[in-house]
Amino acid sequence: MRVIGVDIGGTKVAAGLVEATLGSRPIVTARARGPVDPTTNSGGIASILAVVDQVWRDASKHGPSVAAIGVACAGSVDHHDGVLRRASNMSWTDLGIAEALGDRYGVPVTVENDVNAAAWGEAIFGDPDRETSSAIPTLAYITVGTGIGTGAVEGGRIIRGRAGGAGEFGHLPGLAGAVDPDAALVVCSCGARGCVEAVASGPAFAAAGQTWARDGRAPGLVEASHGDLSGIDAAMITRAATSGDAGALQLVAREARFIAQTIAVAWRAYSPDVIVLGGGVMSAGDVMLKAVHVGLSSLAVTGPARLRECSSWVLPARLGNDAGVIGAGALVVVRPAG
Ligand SMILES: [Zn+2]
Repeated sequence: MRVIGVDIGGTKVAAGLVEATLGSRPIVTARARGPVDPTTNSGGIASILAVVDQVWRDASKHGPSVAAIGVACAGSVDHHDGVLRRASNMSWTDLGIAEALGDRYGVPVTVENDVNAAAWGEAIFGDPDRETSSAIPTLAYITVGTGIGTGAVEGGRIIRGRAGGAGEFGHLPGLAGAVDPDAALVVCSCGARGCVEAVASGPAFAAAGQTWARDGRAPGLVEASHGDLSGIDAAMITRAATSGDAGALQLVAREARFIAQTIAVAWRAYSPDVIVLGGGVMSAGDVMLKAVHVGLSSLAVTGPARLRECSSWVLPARLGNDAGVIGAGALVVVRPAG
């Protein structure tokens, strides 16, 4: 099946032709990308069409026609109408993405929140050995990057809840206090206290590294940043930890405990077959995934064996650099129920 996947982020649009059959890894070709215009609805649609046009042209040159378009976008999405209700840092309101793409290309269009789409993509294509006939797994996807977002799939559906906010455990008030009592007092961007996102998102992780460097607790980071402490970011901390720096390793362990606590909630909420971890903080290196496994095991003590055996089912994201486009395409290769 040939579809187009479109991934609309905070600053850019990426799209590609996704050729997919169940039971094998999708192939992405005819990639295109461009900046998004966040200032007006008409500018936003024009910037999206400019990128999709390129893929459509490339796809039309050879091979069978494109069957459908799947779109993943950051923000609050009405998946019934294919409308992006709102997105942070964008001036768009009620952006009619499905209508605009449907009118232009004359194919069905599905629009979904980007984290939900990533969860769907992992559920459909994450395990290339999955038999075509086997059930879609119960899966939770947690992204740790600019924010901490969660998407979940069960019974061939995306779990959305009343207004699409189901499973946003990064914003569970007070959860961060289970790791660090001081973190319970931090006020989050959502207005609640003690959200894990407020203390463990990529920027919060970087800020912790900067603070530790300033306080003399992470001399390796002072060295790695050549004294420019504002340049310390998640990738730098992870690199320093990978090379064995003691302060950076402690920072990674602390970050991993916040992530583990969030995973533990998702595990109890969904009892999933698999939890997949994505986002910039997780992809920065293996050291973080290992620390998350240690953090989860330490929550279990002698208790739930499932947590102690977490390395077999708490997995890194498996779809690589094209994950956003593949997740979007997956929405129209296999349609979520409901
Ligand atoms: Zn919050």
